[in-house]
Amino acid sequence: PQKLVMIPGPTPVVRSIQDQMGRETVAFGDPDFIEDFKNVVKDLRELWQCSGQTFVIAGSGTLAMEMAVANVSKPGDKALVCSNGFFGDRFAEICKKRGLNVDVIKARWGSSVTSEEVKERLSKEKYDLVTVTHVETSTGVMAPIGEIGKVVQDHGAIFVVDGVAASGGAEEYVDPMGIDVLISCSQKAFGVAPGLALLWASKKALDKRKSLGTIVDSYMDFEKWLPVMEDPSKYWGTPPINLIWALKQSLEIIKSEGIKERYARHVRHATLFDEAISSMGFSILADEGYRAPTLSVYLYPGEFNIDDSKFRSLVAEEGAYIAGCLGDYAGKGFRMGHMGNIDKHILISAVASIERAAMRSGIKLEPGKALGKLQRGFVEES
Ligand code: PMP
Repeated sequence: PQKLVMIPGPTPVVRSIQDQMGRETVAFGDPDFIEDFKNVVKDLRELWQCSGQTFVIAGSGTLAMEMAVANVSKPGDKALVCSNGFFGDRFAEICKKRGLNVDVIKARWGSSVTSEEVKERLSKEKYDLVTVTHVETSTGVMAPIGEIGKVVQDHGAIFVVDGVAASGGAEEYVDPMGIDVLISCSQKAFGVAPGLALLWASKKALDKRKSLGTIVDSYMDFEKWLPVMEDPSKYWGTPPINLIWALKQSLEIIKSEGIKERYARHVRHATLFDEAISSMGFSILADEGYRAPTLSVYLYPGEFNIDDSKFRSLVAEEGAYIAGCLGDYAGKGFRMGHMGNIDKHILISAVASIERAAMRSGIKLEPGKALGKLQRGFVEES
């Protein structure tokens, strides 16, 4: 039986995107591929309103995180890491290992570092770099990146945003939000298979890279990739041809849906999804006002003594893969993606799988209660 991939990435890959990965691979100097590559880079710049440069290279989100830091800092620089959970902490680790002087503002899991907190820190000390995770995958929290971006730009630091669990599903614009380096990857709200690292760099970030002169990194060096992004036949590292075609198809889907409508759909459906899952007695980890439109973290109802791994195996048996919680919440709930090119059929099936698993786990509920919430919401929005 089909198992829906409802973990917070990779997400379901629709047939038209899958088909691009099955195409016969061509040379990276192939004129049609060069054209396709240029269009991907151009679309990413335009859709994310970036007057600087976009980079598309083979790698995962973690490579993009490290690449961001590598190109805009040198050992000894001061970094302020705003951490809302597991992936915020990963930025602190990367910065420390690269010899930066790191201070961390840690939010309680379920909440977010605020622009006021960042402003206060920046008023006390000079920082070269500030990092924020747009959507924190361990908690389902979305940070107010636009507000923080304004504060960071007033201060003059380089603003790095991890958009891995947000880009393509949560509103995110480079120039208007004061972002200097936005990083992401293919397997979340783009709905492409894993394998592509994506970065957007502002003019300020590109100038910063230039001012560093020669850096120790080679694969991650913006300067090495800049000519390739203009023309992929100018080789630095072999481009992942089929994944780039897949991303091109994903961008076609985004453009035909309309990026603003896509963001609005994610918000509407996340709200419905939350209503459906909480109607079964699960609670939402993220504080109201900070809930991500792309993924959610739900905690088990206390009174039923749910065995976490058993519950998630039951959901898988019923047709959907979901992920376990991280950190102090491990064993206490589950994490789910609801982003990318998923439609009503997928959302209905995912909630139905959870509903059956919940009943089989002994949670007392009327069959169809959660599904009813979704059904009503879908009818109301049409
Ligand atoms: N940042 C965030 C917010 C993430 O969710 C993830 C992956 N779950 C990463 C970074 C790392 O990306 P990858 O696993 O593709 O290296």
